[in-house]
Formats: sequence, structure tokens, C-alpha cells
Amino acid sequence: MPKIAIFIADGMADYKIKELGNKTPLEAAHKPNLDKLARQGIGGLLKTIPDNMGAGSDVANMSILGYAPEKYYTGRGPIEAGGLGIKLKESDVAFRCNLITEQSGRIHDYSGGHVTTGEARELIKTLNRELGKLGKFYASVSYRNLFITKLGAGLISTPPHDALGEKISSCLLKPGKNSKEEKRDAKLLNQLMLESKEILENHSINKKRISKKKLPANMIWLWGQGKKPRFENFRRLHGLSGAVISAVDIIRGMAKLAGMDIIKVPGITGHYDTNYEGKGKYAAKALSKYDFIYVHVEAIDEASHAGDMEMKIKTIEEFDRRLLGKFLDSLNKEQEDCIIAVLPDHFTPISMRTHARDPVPYVISSKALRKKDSLAKYTEEEIKSKGSLGVKRGEELIRLLQRL
Ligand SMILES: [Zn+2]
Repeated sequence: MPKIAIFIADGMADYKIKELGNKTPLEAAHKPNLDKLARQGIGGLLKTIPDNMGAGSDVANMSILGYAPEKYYTGRGPIEAGGLGIKLKESDVAFRCNLITEQSGRIHDYSGGHVTTGEARELIKTLNRELGKLGKFYASVSYRNLFITKLGAGLISTPPHDALGEKISSCLLKPGKNSKEEKRDAKLLNQLMLESKEILENHSINKKRISKKKLPANMIWLWGQGKKPRFENFRRLHGLSGAVISAVDIIRGMAKLAGMDIIKVPGITGHYDTNYEGKGKYAAKALSKYDFIYVHVEAIDEASHAGDMEMKIKTIEEFDRRLLGKFLDSLNKEQEDCIIAVLPDHFTPISMRTHARDPVPYVISSKALRKKDSLAKYTEEEIKSKGSLGVKRGEELIRLLQRL
């Protein structure tokens, strides 16, 4: 049985952009490795976001890993808690706690100007000291932190990256069922968010950031909450030993909850400065130990959320040259017949600066393939029009790869 490697280019798929001469960033980018895999492969569209569920990386990656989100998804917070190694109790509710930038009563930036992990740690320490009554804050990477409490499991929350420029007052937590408890929970947690503003605004770390003309991480934003999820073990589900390479907690958390191993790669950041070569090299090395390796790259999604077209093209090119290139070069003789799938987890169109629900294009490439589609390149349109696999659900992908 050949080994399997899946590469997730987070948010890579896009729509045509006028300024690019009506091309998508994928069509505009120079990406010889992706194109080669397409020419040697077969393609199709993957529905990674079930109807009626949020178009997030959590839902999408869960689906690609073979777990139907309708069955397994409880929220983003609890998955990230898994990634941090926090053991949730049955009564715990885990919220994602972003450090954001508030400006003139509105959500100005979902990432607090990409506050550094070291700065975030200090801010979280202060939050626990000053506002730790309703629960505990946990520092993670950059703006992506957690808050574990007993309150608010059923509340309706707003992802801050979907509410850029919106008034804070209109996107606070809302009761889902309008019960007395939910109204109380919403009031308490909204108060907590508003109070965090007073504390963080005057923190020396933010004063320093402002003096360096950086955005301050001056408020917390609670969202994506849920209770402890129950994942089936990955090996039991698929019959494969599996490992994951990713810098972001949501992916690592899912992997841990699924009983997969996490491969540590030095210098990976979840941002533009990540160690692309390291990911490629370690992925190839891991194939001698594991049946299945899942490599996730966040930087492309970050560029998309930032609405930075040039950076999106650049990150696609770096993913192609530095990561895929390094991976392909590092494969040894026995690994050369491995099955490679490359896909975005979801669309993040530059024009929208947030995720879209369209089924994503994917390509499967392997020497073992008997028949190839005549794909000339790796682009949204090419794969949609010439891919022979049609539209499938995300959960079907790994089974499909095993049947090749
Ligand atoms: Zn994503």
C-alpha cells in the first residue's frame, strides 16, 4: 500500500480578480510543482463545508481528515484546547479568545496587529490576574488564545475576521435559545470582553506597540466556543498511522484528539515567515515512519484575510517552490510511488477577505494512477472543468486515496 501525503494550502482558492487581468491568484502565480502534480494527476471538487455549518478551517480540515463535521464538530475552541493539551472536563466550555484591535468602537483587526506570542503571553497573564473570575485564559500562538469557562456553550458568537469594521456593540455574544441562563451568560461574558479593553489598552506592551506604530492588541474577542468533542481514533477510522505538520492549534488540536502524532518542525509560524523547506523535508522523512502525513500551510490564508493580493501570490509561489519542491526532492526511492493530494481547505477570496463555501479544487497525483485527467495546470477553472472525479464530500477523500 503506497504512503499518502495530503498538503493543505489554507484559503488558496479564489475568484477572478480584475486587477490581475481577470485571473485568480493561482492562475497568476508561478507554481511549477503544483502544475506538474496536476499534469500527472486526477482532479475534482471537494465539499469541505457542509450546508448550514460555518465556512471555517476547523470544519473544513475535520471533513478532509475523514470526520463528518455534522457528527463530530462542537466548536473551534475545544479543538484548539486539545492542541494545547488542555484536558477539558464535561462541564467546561472552551472559547477561542482572540486578541483584537478595537478602534472607535469597531473591530479594526482580528489579530491585534499580529501581536507576537511573547507579547500575548504577558497580556494573558495580566488578564488572568485582573479578569480571571469567570474562567481561565490560556496563551497560545500570537493572537490565537483560549478562555475556558463553564458559561455560554449555547451562545451565538461572531468570528472577528468576519466582522472587520463592524460595531462591537452589534456583534457581541447573543443568547441562542433566549433562556434565562443564556441571557445571563451572554451578559457576563460580554462584560468581560468590554472590561478587557480598559485593562489591555493601558498595558505597557500596547503602549510600546503604539509607539512603534503597530496596532495594539487592546481587547479580547470570545467566539467559537463548545464542549469537549469525541473523535474516533484516526487509525481505527482509516486503518492508517498518521501524523500532522502544522503551526496552528486548530489543526494540531484536531490531530491530537484523533490520536495522530504531531511532527515538530523548527521555525514554523503560521505566517509569511514560516519554515516552508522544513515542512517539506520533515514531511518526506515522516513518510518512512507513517502511512499518512498531513501538512498544513496557514500563510496563504493570512494573506487572503489581509486582502493582500501580491502576498497571496507570493505565498502560493513559496508553498510551491519551497515546500512542495523540497518535499518532492526529499523523497527516497521507496517513497516515490506515494500518493499526493494538494488542496485548499476552503476558498478565501481576496475580494471577500473571508472564507467562502464553494467546493474546493483538489488534485491527486501518483505513479500508481492508471488513468490521468488531461489537466494542463493547477487552477480552479482547469480542475473544475477537466477533473474527472466530480464533486465529493470532504470525508470521502482519504477513502478515495486508499482505493487508487
Ligand atoms: Zn482555512
